[in-house]
Amino acid sequence: MTIQKSPDMEAMMRPELLKLEEYTPVEPLDRLSKRLGIPVEQIVKLDANENPYGSSPAALEALKRQQYYHIYPDPSSLNLREELEKYTGINKERIFVGSGSDELLELLTRLFIVPGDNILNFVPTFGMYSFLGELYRAQIRKVPRHANDYSIDVKAGLAAIDERTKLIFVCTPNNPTGNSAPESVVRALLDTGKIVVVDEAYHDFAGHSFIKLTNIYENLVVLRTFSKLSGLAGLRVGYGIVPEAIARQLWKIKQPYNVTVAGQEAARASLSEGTWISEHIQKIVAERERLYGLLQQFSDHFEALPSSSNFIFCRMKKGRAKQIKNELEKRGVLVRHYNKPLLENAFRVSVGRPEQTDIFIEHLKQIIYTQ
Ligand code: PMP
Repeated sequence: MTIQKSPDMEAMMRPELLKLEEYTPVEPLDRLSKRLGIPVEQIVKLDANENPYGSSPAALEALKRQQYYHIYPDPSSLNLREELEKYTGINKERIFVGSGSDELLELLTRLFIVPGDNILNFVPTFGMYSFLGELYRAQIRKVPRHANDYSIDVKAGLAAIDERTKLIFVCTPNNPTGNSAPESVVRALLDTGKIVVVDEAYHDFAGHSFIKLTNIYENLVVLRTFSKLSGLAGLRVGYGIVPEAIARQLWKIKQPYNVTVAGQEAARASLSEGTWISEHIQKIVAERERLYGLLQQFSDHFEALPSSSNFIFCRMKKGRAKQIKNELEKRGVLVRHYNKPLLENAFRVSVGRPEQTDIFIEHLKQIIYTQ
């Protein structure tokens, strides 16, 4: 059998995509467990801001009850949107559901960006905004946050806006730094008339939402997710409160079956469990404050920043964050490590259950004081 010689594949691809950074996949838990020789249930996973208590019982029940996984999902996620209407107080015509808020971010970028437009990004922040911007050939205007507390530099942001600015991304609370943007900052950006995308994936832990401003500003999009507090990261469901003019176009450009049957059912069920939701917010917020207190004992080694989210960002004063991350991993504790501009030599730890916090702190003591 002769094999036909392949053409130069890369020469045929979009050149700007070839320049993107290599994708490093996250190691699945079962494989990591095998590699480390530690059972999955003993791994303390504090690296992706998931809910350490899992999914709500109502969501798990709904998944078991559902009998129609062989039927395509409702493309309009209508039942879920009706439930979200009750939950948010926003008319369902302004609610758009996606396969995680990641998909909503992509759809918005697809809708607005033509090559050469620009997006405003207050860095450091969640990497998806600049990744998608690059994918759709936008210029990424990186506006550095203030170095001390990572608050947004509004003056610099306003100065960076021009006629080709299409989207302004505001992550609040910000991932990975944990601080929230004050309303005055968001309003100042909205007053420019540009589309402001407020990504409030972690708003539950901050006790504050920008949703109410969607009734005042027609250029505001607010994104939320079921991946964090609701504990449904593996099912991929997010939603956005979007102006009707944007919603109309988003319907046209999405994949028809973007949200799975399982995702729609579980998300809907988890909204019905008000007590579970409020109890878990309380538990996670209380544990965040306890963790923050415990981290102060290492203040000679790193600074733990105050957080309004379900994770805490720590920047090293001495020693290497990478080493801490690796040593913790060997012991079955996962945290996220950073070493890039404005996030040099740092790590982020998610808030876990109290016993997980204790394990993390014990290992951290051993690593820092005995190595
Ligand atoms: N926004 C922020 C700020 C996030 O941290 C994440 C998840 N890491 C997302 C959006 C994406 O969430 P989802 O799972 O809904 O796609």
